[in-house]
Amino acid sequence: VTKIQISEVGKRYEGRNPVEALSDVTLTVDDSEFVCLVGPSGCGKSTLLRMIMGLHRPSAGTVDVFADDPVLPPTAMVFQDYSIFPWKTVEQNVRFGFEGRRLPRAECDARVDKWLERLGLSQFRRAYPAALSGGMRQRVSIARALAVEPEVLLMDEPFAALDAQLRRVLQEELLALWQQDRRTVVFVTHSLEEAILLGDRIVVMSARPGRIIADIRVPFDRPRS
Ligand code: ADP
Ligand code: ADP
Repeated sequence: VTKIQISEVGKRYEGRNPVEALSDVTLTVDDSEFVCLVGPSGCGKSTLLRMIMGLHRPSAGTVDVFADDPVLPPTAMVFQDYSIFPWKTVEQNVRFGFEGRRLPRAECDARVDKWLERLGLSQFRRAYPAALSGGMRQRVSIARALAVEPEVLLMDEPFAALDAQLRRVLQEELLALWQQDRRTVVFVTHSLEEAILLGDRIVVMSARPGRIIADIRVPFDRPRS
């Protein structure tokens, strides 16, 4: 089943120095695929993610996300710099994913509990982000995104700000979560190593303008390390 259909997309940022961020990008992502988008800085990875999320409109072509849940948004994003609210507790941050949505209270509570538990955050639910390590804070943003149980999880270099050891731990945790609960993931990284570890499909982009130059399917039951 197709989840994301990107057809002949171009994106130009206008301004004094216009940038052709993407040119003729076509990509179909199926249900439950873990796609890593890899390429050098400036090749348009974030631009593509933001278009999938509906934050940016393409200058040419179309981007469609196919989803059937009318209540919750089809996509949720995890950013590089743990974009969690410092004035909210861990639990309130995770709950924030439901703000303004008509999801029954009991269902919100159940999901918050479930995803705090799965990310190892239960004992920190009343803590504020300032009291947490960088890794814990990034777990909060992952829990917030996953609590929405989005049809498409978008991750923009989510581990880039972590040290190598912690990055490795969170990569393993993400894989374990995904193996339990396969959903469509588009994961942006500039690290080919990370893409090989995580992705069952690796889409390689080049810059100026941003284009897809390779699309590789990796057997997903391979040894991961
Ligand atoms: P990546 O995520 O691969 O580093 P980006 O999507 O951030 O690439 O950027 C692609 C190109 O578009 C870069 O040249 C970048 O400078 C430019 N760009 C990104 N966002 C904007 C913007 N809001 N306004 C103007 N140019 C932008
Ligand atoms: P990344 O490479 O991590 O995707 P960037 O450092 O390229 O991020 O961009 C950070 C932010 O700045 C983004 O919101 C992007 O849209 C914006 N941006 C990037 N390049 C430009 C640009 N040339 N002009 C205006 N905004 C830009």
